[in-house]
Amino acid sequence: MKRSRVLAVLVGGVFIVAVMSLNRMLELMQGAGLKQRGETPAGQDLSHLQQKIDRLEHLLSDNNRLVATLRDSLLQRKAPWETGARANVSSDSAHGQTDRLPGCRLADEPKDGHANDANLVVYVVVVYQLLDVYDLLPFDNPDGGAWKQGFEIRYQGNEWDEQPLELFLVPHSHNDPGWLKTFDSYYQDQTKHILNNMLIKLSEDSRRKMIWAEISFFSKWWNDIDDQKREIVKRLLRAGQLELVTGGWVMADEANSHYFALLDQLIEGHQWIQRHLGVKPSSGWAVDPFGHSPSMTYLLKGAGLRDMVIQRVHYAVKKHFAKQQTLEFLWRQSWDSSSRSDITCHMMPFYSYDVPHTCGPNPAICCQFDFHRLPGGRVSCPWRIPPQPITEQNVQERALLLLDQYRQKSRLFHSPVLLVSLGDDFRFVESSEWDAQFSNYQKLFDYFDQHPELHVKARFGTLSDYFKALRRRLTAAGTTLPTLRGDFFTYSDRDDHYWSGYFTSRPFYKRLDRTLEATLRATEILFSLTTAEMRRYRGDGHLVADFPAHQHFQRLTTGRRSLALFQHHDGVTGTARDPVVVDYGTRLFHSILNLRQVLQSSAHWLLLLDKSQYHYDQSKPFLKMVTPDPITSFKMILCSLFLSLIIFNPTEQLRTSVISIVVDSPDARVVDAQTGQPMTAQISAVWEEPTLASAEDFQVKNELVQSIKIFPLSGLVKMGIFYASLSGCPLGGATIIKNAFRLITSAQFSGLVRQVQVQFLWYGTTRNRDKSGAYLFLPGEEGAQLYSSSEPPLVRVSRGPVFSDITSCFRHFTHRVRLYHLEGHAGKSLEISNMVDIRSEVNRELAMRIVSNVASGNRFYSDLNSFQMQQRRTLAKLPLQAHFYPMTSASFLQDETSRVSLLSAQSQAVASLRPGELEVILDRRLQQDDNLGLGQGITDNKLTASLYQLLLEDRRGGAQEVGGASVQHLSLLAHLTSLSLCHPPITMVATSDSQLPKLRPFLPLQSSLPCDVHLLNLRTLEDTQEAGSPSQEVALLLHRKGFDCSSAPEPPLQCSWSAHEEVDTLIYLLYVFLYY
Ligand SMILES: [Zn+2]
Repeated sequence: MKRSRVLAVLVGGVFIVAVMSLNRMLELMQGAGLKQRGETPAGQDLSHLQQKIDRLEHLLSDNNRLVATLRDSLLQRKAPWETGARANVSSDSAHGQTDRLPGCRLADEPKDGHANDANLVVYVVVVYQLLDVYDLLPFDNPDGGAWKQGFEIRYQGNEWDEQPLELFLVPHSHNDPGWLKTFDSYYQDQTKHILNNMLIKLSEDSRRKMIWAEISFFSKWWNDIDDQKREIVKRLLRAGQLELVTGGWVMADEANSHYFALLDQLIEGHQWIQRHLGVKPSSGWAVDPFGHSPSMTYLLKGAGLRDMVIQRVHYAVKKHFAKQQTLEFLWRQSWDSSSRSDITCHMMPFYSYDVPHTCGPNPAICCQFDFHRLPGGRVSCPWRIPPQPITEQNVQERALLLLDQYRQKSRLFHSPVLLVSLGDDFRFVESSEWDAQFSNYQKLFDYFDQHPELHVKARFGTLSDYFKALRRRLTAAGTTLPTLRGDFFTYSDRDDHYWSGYFTSRPFYKRLDRTLEATLRATEILFSLTTAEMRRYRGDGHLVADFPAHQHFQRLTTGRRSLALFQHHDGVTGTARDPVVVDYGTRLFHSILNLRQVLQSSAHWLLLLDKSQYHYDQSKPFLKMVTPDPITSFKMILCSLFLSLIIFNPTEQLRTSVISIVVDSPDARVVDAQTGQPMTAQISAVWEEPTLASAEDFQVKNELVQSIKIFPLSGLVKMGIFYASLSGCPLGGATIIKNAFRLITSAQFSGLVRQVQVQFLWYGTTRNRDKSGAYLFLPGEEGAQLYSSSEPPLVRVSRGPVFSDITSCFRHFTHRVRLYHLEGHAGKSLEISNMVDIRSEVNRELAMRIVSNVASGNRFYSDLNSFQMQQRRTLAKLPLQAHFYPMTSASFLQDETSRVSLLSAQSQAVASLRPGELEVILDRRLQQDDNLGLGQGITDNKLTASLYQLLLEDRRGGAQEVGGASVQHLSLLAHLTSLSLCHPPITMVATSDSQLPKLRPFLPLQSSLPCDVHLLNLRTLEDTQEAGSPSQEVALLLHRKGFDCSSAPEPPLQCSWSAHEEVDTLIYLLYVFLYY
């Protein structure tokens, strides 16, 4: 191993990132596959381990008892507010001893020496569960006076006599990489001026400070400035006047984003900072994302951050935390019973991150201290009391007025250190604004300094200045912050304004995002393997001269950055203006096309038997992509007499998969490349219209009977003439009854018959003044109406050896359910796909509802960023729109004996409004703005596809309990099904007219990885010497997933699991962060 630096190692065996030489890594991976089958630790080690586990269990049980007592007291207090309209059935706590899967381990059991050594500290602290807070709060929204959503804050005046108030005013400018303007327009019009002025204005006075978050903008500006200016940047960083916070490419959305993309934007930003500035961010700054996810905090912690600031949290939750003085807390992961995933989090108490809502509770007063709003400027105070320039005459009055706000705000926090931000969207553009803010505040600070009797020390600061001081105060006081588990969805900023609309807004682009994500991941892996193989082939560490490594790495980098940019909280959220959405979409689309070029030429080289025959010709690629894509409509019609199909399985699991291609004749046939034997296949019509089949195009679905081996390209399949028939028989394995508006599918799974219905619904918007828009979901009081149609749907039923399906064509959508007749996990779920078109509608949203007989009570589970599952509770005291949550890839409901999981290939809003029901919003078309700054409705709807797998499973045993709360995971079968859904095989075809060179399968792994271990990425890093070129180093990102222990699939899964130690062997440098 040339350099075995660990890039980022994240939680306790859950997520691991490493940098190592590729060959060494492959050796280890192959070795790991062998290890898990046979070796056991020596008996002596086992007994030592057992002792440690016993000791830890003892400590944990003590801790759990205490936490349970605290929880019980909380539950008793919530009772008066519980209206009891719904059965509050807990499906989680009914079971005693879990009947576990072999090797199934509770989430809070230690699994290595890091957690269970003798000096382990078991924190006996108050652990808040946000779910319990939701049960507790009345959500009655009383008028709080000056602080409308809060309460009157009182203080004596002598609170700071012993410990003076220590205040850090943190200047910031919130720069959206696309919202009302495109990324490039914002840069040209505002951002570059802000950064240029920053150099001048911070250099003028060493007491001035500034924080910056968006590396997409910062790196673009860096490319525009000369060496002299770059030196000033470095000097300001060294002096602590400038601090880069979070260090992400963008300030990412935390609801719709997949953790692959969240990590992509974080790595892209951090790698850029490392390369150009050599510093490491230590504090997170997320003041505008519309709700907050613990998945993000987990990634930040793994990236080396210690502290973070969040802002957009439900106003009632903020008020509760402010009352309890718990706005600062240690945010802990739900599965973690130790403190290792904790990150210090500061929640801003008031309505917004702008100046009126940060100095204290009264916005009318705070606005007078936003000196950008001095009379005569472009912006003013809506509270009609303008700021005044600070003069000798008014300084005392102004300083005391401001101090009163500071003091009131300080009463909401545990310690006398106070964080106050100074900024807003695109602030500090003009030189005069810098002068107005910094000089007026400096006069106020000077006044405080001259009056020690006020007991306040105020200065400009950065986040790390603040958190350092906070830590010092906490240590001195011998206290720690409380601990909290949970997430901050669904956000509401006032009244019944729940921001659950953006979980679905612009679903076409949300799906395009995931298409790019899957393409990028596949390309990263294949490119890394190709360059490693090339170096091995040449033997001198160099790449094959004809291979366009540099251009391909540029394409990869652009793809990474396009995906990263779109994770911005106005990108994947669907909350930007129409032209900006088109700009994002163009970037995503071009990136997919470019990455496909990298895939094609990488696969070309890997598959050639005689590598000397490799020749790269961009205009005439040897391989062409035929992977069908419902969004971009890449449809290649194959019409040669004889073609070779190349299938790449981008997952780490052996899988049986269905490959779909379009041919020009119903007489096509599929044969095995090696043996020439015919393979099972099925031909279908390609439908041009619901009742019109194309006369020229046909789809061949080919069941690959030979297994597709682990991630690199597997078998070659030659295709020639084929015959098949299209028939109208009932769906095999299931009976389907249709009526005009719904399909009832009674499918037999695992011997138990369960009823599942699919319904479609319309939501309208309220008749009140404030209506649904890009952000907000404000449905009418009548709720959802069942979809109705004056004409009965056209229904097509097909049955064949590979799959059987039923397609229902309605005016606004085409709905298809399909069963695959396959071995392995692919045959155990029901595929649901929809093609939605609501372009003819006004102020309507289309929903799909799954109705089951599962007695789930008022609880269901939805995923957070595809990284973890979070329990949700439907509460009568909250309005309908509050019950919609983001679903990135999964949701489920369950009772004691069964679970229904809906696995999704795209991000959408999900809810369970009644027991046994799950519903997702498919698309929304809204004519009006929802008054949150966007200034337009969302009417750019497109023909939009959505894809799901529905899984019905038996359950035995209950949930895992961590710190008094149940922790739920997907089952192993659901993990595998989701993996296949999100990472379909990639199909290419060799189009060479002449004699085809000899090809060979490429099989770098001997076996599947354990099925709870996901190969998240294999990411080639940039060369440190030669900018823009691939280095010999790759980042290996593995994710060990928690999985449900209450269901054991029959027949058993092919893969192994939970022999966790082999992952430790694979990456043995756990808990080390040697990024730089
Ligand atoms: Zn923003």
